[in-house]
Amino acid sequence: GGASSSGVKQQVKLEKESELRIEVGNDAPLCLRLLNGNAEIFGTELAPEIWLNFPPRLKFAVFTWYGATIEMEGTTETDYTADETPMVSYVNVHAILEARRTRAKASSSGDSESSQGPRVIVVGPTDSGKSTLSRMLLSWAAKQGSKPTFVDLDIGQGSITIPGCIAATPIEMPIDPVEGITLEMPLLLLHAIRTLKANVVLVLGQEKLYSMLRDVLKGEPKVDVVKLQRSGGVVSRNVKVRQKARSFRIREYFYGLLNDLSPHSNIANFSDLCVYRIGGGPQAPRSALPIGAEPVADPTRVVPVNINRDLLHMVLAVSFAKEPEEIISSNVAGFIYVTDVDIQRKKITYLAPSAGDLPSKFLILGSLTWLET
Ligand code: ADP
Repeated sequence: GGASSSGVKQQVKLEKESELRIEVGNDAPLCLRLLNGNAEIFGTELAPEIWLNFPPRLKFAVFTWYGATIEMEGTTETDYTADETPMVSYVNVHAILEARRTRAKASSSGDSESSQGPRVIVVGPTDSGKSTLSRMLLSWAAKQGSKPTFVDLDIGQGSITIPGCIAATPIEMPIDPVEGITLEMPLLLLHAIRTLKANVVLVLGQEKLYSMLRDVLKGEPKVDVVKLQRSGGVVSRNVKVRQKARSFRIREYFYGLLNDLSPHSNIANFSDLCVYRIGGGPQAPRSALPIGAEPVADPTRVVPVNINRDLLHMVLAVSFAKEPEEIISSNVAGFIYVTDVDIQRKKITYLAPSAGDLPSKFLILGSLTWLET
């Protein structure tokens, strides 16, 4: 760890292939700009001289390939320079993926296999830098004109939307430097690799997981398993910190990263809304099954849920579905947060990103609760 700085303007000179690792202070944002040279934050290049504003508690690194001078103003929890980073190996992975994309694009055969770009999955323990590596690979690819699709399987600390969701988004430009897979069981992992038809598996910082995956995937045709070193800059977060980060992500969804959004509190009648849960309930009663067979929960079953006080402090997804049957195949428009349930008046009060009617009356209940702090 390094020293913390407060208040004053400070210049930092970075040698080639080194990075400035920063944890912004708890209470105030940090301003930072590139004075000269070239530098990037997790794959996104910094424009010269433009001040960027980083919110409290953010942890990030400014990396330079050829040398740079950085100026910062504000308070940091820590900031220090590191010249040992795994960035060269990461950019080599990018180069190989880029070559495969070029080959896929050039492929004239109607064979869908060879005209497919690489499908990469990044795996590793909690806090090994998976999100960060994904972000770099996406930004580098976007910078070269590719349009990779990012599928976030990290339901705890995802980067696309609020916690508790699996999300996918196309990336068409480098990721904003300010705004920024907990799959511990390899068996889960295998399922993800197969479902997503991944043909490149990047394993971050865990020898055991790497050799396990390599052995298991030996039989699979054309799956490359690559071991990568984790960065010394990746900050470990304990359970408390992760919970806090999740809570902040939900807060951010409604209020914005810099408190720049103003969500609306709305009131609806119970009768105006239909709440559903996905999965759960057994598919068939035991009596209807062959002897010895166990009833299995159908993970895609849509089950109506009564509106009562249990919904208090829950985050609900708002479906685009027009009929209950469409819920399972529809996207969600966004999320609402239940702040009050008045049983007597049969009214529900909720926070939504904006005023006005919800795009649909079909709401989906998960298991995400949030206590606004
Ligand atoms: P994972 O996805 O494996 O849980 P993350 O990529 O989210 O791990 O990284 C954990 C934390 O470490 C994040 O807050 C991230 O911004 C921070 N981090 C990652 N790499 C660096 C680095 N080189 N310097 C400083 N902080 C970093």
